[in-house]
Amino acid sequence: MALVFFQSSPAAAWGGEGHTFINRVAAEKIPASMPRFLRRAVVEIAYLGPEPDRWRSPAEFALKNAQEPDHFLDMERIEWLDPLPRGRYEFYRKLYEKRASTKENPDDYLPERVGLQPYITMEVYGRLKSAFREYRQLRAAHQPTQAVQQGIVFYAGWLGHYVADGSQPLHTTIQYNGWVGPNPSRYSTLHGIHAQFETAYVAANITAKDFAGLVKTPDRLQDPFASYVAYLKDSHAQVETVYSLEKAGGFTGKGIPTAFDFTTQRLAAGAQMLLNLWYTAWLESAEPAPEHPGSTPAKAADPAK
Ligand SMILES: [Zn+2]
Repeated sequence: MALVFFQSSPAAAWGGEGHTFINRVAAEKIPASMPRFLRRAVVEIAYLGPEPDRWRSPAEFALKNAQEPDHFLDMERIEWLDPLPRGRYEFYRKLYEKRASTKENPDDYLPERVGLQPYITMEVYGRLKSAFREYRQLRAAHQPTQAVQQGIVFYAGWLGHYVADGSQPLHTTIQYNGWVGPNPSRYSTLHGIHAQFETAYVAANITAKDFAGLVKTPDRLQDPFASYVAYLKDSHAQVETVYSLEKAGGFTGKGIPTAFDFTTQRLAAGAQMLLNLWYTAWLESAEPAPEHPGSTPAKAADPAK
């Protein structure tokens, strides 16, 4: 039953276990300098690790349709686009321009085919930072913070899903589930490697404590978007490693030690980036925000909006 489900959802990214582990390990490492309610929300944050994968049912068509591209980024399709634009609509515009000038398979450049991984991640990061700012203001004003605390826990957990997806190399590539195109190393072309690696192998062989020790105290990121894109590139550089490990039987049954080391390091990389983003959002939220960020007086006065 579970096997059928995961085979029909090849882009699920880390199974439920992997997502839960990454969120839990990161939450257990939240430093004492961050709010205590958040450090106490390990169970809630861990539960939210798989949350966006609960939004993929055909029973909620609009939701499934809108959010599926959030889970991946096919980096081969955007090698010509460096640096990446910081806003999703600037990204769409670049892709549509590319599509218009492309003769062969132009639809490969549709935003929903390329994927929107770094955009959703930074958008949820922004929500978290904004909620942290509200929390600070309410506390300073001696107002109740219970409601904003619930928002913060949700945003922190939700963010964890996409960050974890980004640590799975097969979420950064057109080679997401079986090798396509020239194949000199004779990697598997079967649709199955994705779930075999991230779901079946992880569930059977790895627990949170296998990689918790690899996650260190958080660093403040000077430029979260740039750091996140670099993190995706690092993950993308390891796509072939997944295929060569699979070829060596690394993810079959109990697998092999190099596959275990590789997988725990990828899970740890996800938890570390998540922890760094939480920490950075918390620190950045202490800086005062402009009065009406992003809305110019002309737009605010436009009755059509
Ligand atoms: Zn996902």
